[in-house]
Amino acid sequence: MRERDCPMNRQMYQSLTQFSAAALGAILLSFLALSTGSCVPTNDLKHRPAAGSTQNDYKTQGSVGNSASQLLNGEVFDSLEVEVQPVGEAVPTQDSLISLVYFLEQTLHKPGGVRVRQNAPVPLPQLQGNALLTSIPQWEKRWRKSQPFKKTTSLFLLYWEGASPEDSATQQRFAQAYSQSSVILYAPTLEKFSGGIGQVPRSLLEATVMQHEIGHLLGLVSGSSGSTHEDPQSIGHCSSPGCLMQANPLEAIQLSRSSPADFGTRPPELCDSCWEDLHRTRE
Ligand SMILES: [Zn+2]
Ligand SMILES: [Zn+2]
Repeated sequence: MRERDCPMNRQMYQSLTQFSAAALGAILLSFLALSTGSCVPTNDLKHRPAAGSTQNDYKTQGSVGNSASQLLNGEVFDSLEVEVQPVGEAVPTQDSLISLVYFLEQTLHKPGGVRVRQNAPVPLPQLQGNALLTSIPQWEKRWRKSQPFKKTTSLFLLYWEGASPEDSATQQRFAQAYSQSSVILYAPTLEKFSGGIGQVPRSLLEATVMQHEIGHLLGLVSGSSGSTHEDPQSIGHCSSPGCLMQANPLEAIQLSRSSPADFGTRPPELCDSCWEDLHRTRE
């Protein structure tokens, strides 16, 4: 993808799926038919958090991965608040939020706990295209209530009742991590690819995408960490089949199932190589 096609790409990682419009019907019934793509800046992937840095103020947001070590360990912040902001009428499933808390408790060292704060919905801004994309950080400043305070840090999840302005006939995005502590999820696209006959359950896709994007906030997957499992076809993603950090969450779900008929309820897990990356970042 050309850089001008991705105006926020210096701050964003994305979960997206590519498909042929002519094959859409078949794709909805066959997740393996999906191919994947990404729009990920190498510079951000190579950025590592500075040792001892406490940069985590949402008003001076850094790049995706900047706060990875502070999120992972309990030295600066020993607890975490996940603030969920529905925009429009769509709201995330409770099961996906429960799954998210479980994932964070298993992945981060936060002995003070992980909790969710779900805000009341706000009206969907009537903006489109680049005007919408470039205004998202400003909307966040207006709506976000949580910020690092004493020993508690925060993540901000925008649950957006609209598709990504960057979507095209061949690419649709489920979500994007756009700063060191912020993720936007595109509810209509999640709905389009889940919950129907032959599709994965809505809460499973939603949980998978949430956890995948937070994986990016934790620095996954970066070639600069010495790892050798970065997908050469999709920078910032894992090449291990069935790993949470595969570029296409639907493919990861498909490959991590215990049997073809079992969609299960738990998202794909991180592979051993991704865990090793997290251990290196945490130290
Ligand atoms: Zn991704
Ligand atoms: Zn992996």
